[in-house]
Amino acid sequence: MKVECPACHAKVHVGGKPRMGQKVKCRSCDAELEVVWLEPLELDWAYDEDEFEDEYDEDYEDAY
Ligand SMILES: [Zn+2]
Repeated sequence: MKVECPACHAKVHVGGKPRMGQKVKCRSCDAELEVVWLEPLELDWAYDEDEFEDEYDEDYEDAY
């Protein structure tokens, strides 16, 4: 299956049967991506969830 990279819009090949949270790397721009939706197949940035967690949560609540 091929999906568009959210960073550079190149087509990224996802091997096998894609599943939610699957990590994929864009060969074009080297972005670390992750499957966020299956139908249609969609990729988004793969964030390292261990970092920044608390700080960002608090910022969002104050801003909105
Ligand atoms: Zn890319």
